[in-house]
Amino acid sequence: MRERCLISVGGSVQGVGFRPFVFRLAARHGLAGSVRNDGRGVAIELEGDPTALDRFVNGLRGQLPPLARVDRVDIDRSAAIGLSGFRIGESCTSGPANTAIPADVATCDACLAELFDPADRRHRFPFINCTDCGPRLTIVEGLPYDRFRTTMARFEMCAECRAEYENPLDRRFHAEPVACPACGPRLTLRDAMGAVVAGDPLHVSAEALSAGAILAIKGLGGYHLACDATNGDAVERLRRRKHRPAKPLAVMVRDLAAFRALCLAGPEEELLLASPERPIVLVRKRPDGGVADAVASGLPDLGLMLPYTPVHYLLLEQAGRPLVMTSGNRSDEPIAFRDEDAHARLAGIADLFLDHDRPIAMRCDDSIARMVGGTVSLVRRSRGYAPQPLALAAGSDAPLLAVGGDLKNTFALVRGQEAFLSHYVGDLHDLDSYAAFDEAVGHYSRLLGIRPQVVAHDLHPGYLSTRRALELDADEHIPVQHHHAHFAACLAEHGITQPAIGVVFDGTGYGPDGSVWGGEFLIGDCRAVERAGHLGSVPLPGGDAAVREPWRAAVAHLVCAFGSTAESAATDLLERVGEKRWSAVKVMSGRRELSAPTSSVGRLFDAVSAIIGLRDRIDYEAQAAIELEAIADPGESRCYPIELECTSGRWIWRPEPVIKAVVDDLRRTPPRPAIAAAFHNTVAAATTVVCERLRSASGLNRVALTGGVFLNTLLLRRAAGNLSAVGFEVLTHRRVPANDGGLSFGQAAVACAVHAARR
Ligand code: ZN
Ligand code: ZN
Ligand code: FE
Repeated sequence: MRERCLISVGGSVQGVGFRPFVFRLAARHGLAGSVRNDGRGVAIELEGDPTALDRFVNGLRGQLPPLARVDRVDIDRSAAIGLSGFRIGESCTSGPANTAIPADVATCDACLAELFDPADRRHRFPFINCTDCGPRLTIVEGLPYDRFRTTMARFEMCAECRAEYENPLDRRFHAEPVACPACGPRLTLRDAMGAVVAGDPLHVSAEALSAGAILAIKGLGGYHLACDATNGDAVERLRRRKHRPAKPLAVMVRDLAAFRALCLAGPEEELLLASPERPIVLVRKRPDGGVADAVASGLPDLGLMLPYTPVHYLLLEQAGRPLVMTSGNRSDEPIAFRDEDAHARLAGIADLFLDHDRPIAMRCDDSIARMVGGTVSLVRRSRGYAPQPLALAAGSDAPLLAVGGDLKNTFALVRGQEAFLSHYVGDLHDLDSYAAFDEAVGHYSRLLGIRPQVVAHDLHPGYLSTRRALELDADEHIPVQHHHAHFAACLAEHGITQPAIGVVFDGTGYGPDGSVWGGEFLIGDCRAVERAGHLGSVPLPGGDAAVREPWRAAVAHLVCAFGSTAESAATDLLERVGEKRWSAVKVMSGRRELSAPTSSVGRLFDAVSAIIGLRDRIDYEAQAAIELEAIADPGESRCYPIELECTSGRWIWRPEPVIKAVVDDLRRTPPRPAIAAAFHNTVAAATTVVCERLRSASGLNRVALTGGVFLNTLLLRRAAGNLSAVGFEVLTHRRVPANDGGLSFGQAAVACAVHAARR
């Protein structure tokens, strides 16, 4: 007795070889029917023996194609209608678009083998790809994911490619960007004036790189600027032209052997490095590694990545050396991704442009990750990861947009229980970034079919993201306090809906009392929190200037700790800063209207860094704290005194005893690495002491560590270690960054909870 079965599958099922997988599965179980993409995922119609149908359904959860993920299988059985054969159908675009935008995937092993096989028709073809690899997010112009809705639509497939594309048993069946040398995109090498350079583009590029040139390379999500990473002059020149004096540069290495030659990393780092997402991985530099010092001078770590497109593989092979690969922009502008724009903006930086004629639909920067205590920790979640949805335990019945913050901006769109966290947009202070933000929000909303009725934003009224959010037409605008969002991001990432303790340490965030928060102990959940404790505030004058110039935070903290004797407590700093500027800051810090009180732990790191003479001014965000972590002596176990004060039920950790102890130590002249480490130990110990007090009062035993300061792995390890040792369950970030890049996900989690509670 035959039966008919209609199956709807949701998840990552489009553009990942799911339909041929269904075809083969149906053939194995002798079933007739069809399969096609639709707005909700994949729709399957089957007919056959009931036990064979059962086996088919079990198989749907079994050995999936490598990039597929099944979240939902809906089954509807009925009487047979007499189907025969099996057909792979066209996509159906009617109905709501309920699918995900697939993320870009690094070149797979099968394609790599063909790339370097002289007998293959795609031998050395720079745009080789298949169902398991290649561009996705960066070429998609509409959903469902089909070739004619990608930037590959302009390339007419040749007969051979079409045959592969249409053959359900071929590994390029419906590989939407399929192409070959006869019909696909082409590379062109141009000079800085835009004139085409003769010769093989890859060969000439590799030679130029070897000779010290700076090359702009059009990649997946935008342009990279590349140069020989072993050539100090070339690296310095790139830094000068790009206006990026000190921030570390990422390096691309040809393979694992080249990776091992440059760093000291374990098998976990190698797995992360070679994962299909291909992030930049932060690893410990080999002292004798061979990249120029200017790549990451003064720092123990290096950001390394493997090639992730065929162009990279071919270029790295020909150049035969590690290459700096940094985003194609001037300082903090968004990455250039349109050919003309790239040529205009990068003209003064790059000597040559390696272009191709496949347009980029959406810009997307490289992701940055590292291993911390055996788990992956994302520093920047972008190419490869975005916009894969993250599950939200609570979810929302109303479509929702969370706009994120102004720095390291990402945004999130929520549909049901899925949060689509965007690629890295960047700092919105830049007008171009602001335009990029609008463009990206529009693009994602259209593709995902999400028209936000609820818009979440930061509480800060002055944030550009807040102003933009309030301009958007929506039923409801939900302001979310900055540190509540960080806390909620960590809770939601772990699917926690019960109350917990949140330790949120970062640079700055707007507090409801008008002061600048950044050293917060919160108690609550995604819906609401109370401020249960914080680092004692100091009046910090100068706003943004105080962020760029850590000496200001040092003066503010010294004045708080020593009062009128602050100058004599830190004579070295006074000498470097000069009496005039010192007293200006001192006077300003006495006047509330000029100096917002701040409880920022980020600024406390700055203060200590400046007091010990490590860094008075920074060239990139968090440089002072990064360098303080870098010099810390891991063997040092001392800890400075911790003083707590309880005012109106709130625990205040006083910074003054810490500052005094640092100054004392400095007078006794123990080496700076010992002071830096003792300071880290103190922050970790104070975290634990405050959490223990909060546990006694609340009975809560779960602690989330979040905020940009916790990208400091020394602090994170020490704090998590101390907390676990006294029995806490510790939550740390894995899939969402601890810094402001994770803010939108947290805002989304808060808005879902608030919206649900209001109904
Ligand atoms: Zn492939
Ligand atoms: Zn072809
Ligand atoms: Fe923050």
